[in-house]
Amino acid sequence: MSVKERLSTLQEQIDAVCTRCNLDISKVQIVAVTKYVSVETTAQALDAGLVHIGENRTEGAVQKWDELGERGIWHFIGSLQTRKVKQIVGKYEYLHSLDRLSLAKEVDKRLEDGQVMKCFVQVNVSGEESKSGLSPKEVIPFIQDLGQFKHIEVVGLMTMAPFYDDPELTRPIFRNLREIRDEVQLLNLDYAPCKELSMGMSNDFTVAIEEGATFIRIGSALVGKE
Ligand SMILES: *Cc1c(COP(=O)(O)O)cnc(C)c1O
Repeated sequence: MSVKERLSTLQEQIDAVCTRCNLDISKVQIVAVTKYVSVETTAQALDAGLVHIGENRTEGAVQKWDELGERGIWHFIGSLQTRKVKQIVGKYEYLHSLDRLSLAKEVDKRLEDGQVMKCFVQVNVSGEESKSGLSPKEVIPFIQDLGQFKHIEVVGLMTMAPFYDDPELTRPIFRNLREIRDEVQLLNLDYAPCKELSMGMSNDFTVAIEEGATFIRIGSALVGKE
């Protein structure tokens, strides 16, 4: 199947969830995760009308940006080593994996006057050891600390749910992320509007949308694996 065909299936599924739950479909954006595929397939995703492209490793991220940069809006979604920040800053508009002050400091240092990085604070809601991110109780103090960096904008929160055969089991995790997001909004911080929720992947995006996802990160179901 082509990316275009997979995209139209995905859009039908998103449409069905939004209709069923009376949600505003314009609030749900698709990040096409191209980490498993080539530059050519990434170009097909852009040709199909996808705008948001997600990569999780700096090598692939830089390669795809160098070839296709001006055609998309770029999201870095994987763990980011501090020493690699300079490779993506100024190219990638969104960072979905902000999880420590040292990373914020390095991003901040590399940006120039008037530039900001739109960041999601990554939260390990499930508490799985293999997952990165802050624990839920660390989120508010962490975001309060980010006020010292004038180039960091906290646009939202991100989480990865464990893989379950039954995606319904992810619901409490996504719901919990939304509740934490709502608490952050109550702080009314100008650098942390925190409106967005980056959650949901190929296997669990319908549940994530039902729980308020505004950016779903879809890899295999959209661009396949090569
Ligand atoms: C790989 C990846 C995805 C997409 O995974 P699929 O299951 O292929 O949709 C989403 N988010 C992150 C952080 C990833 O690393």
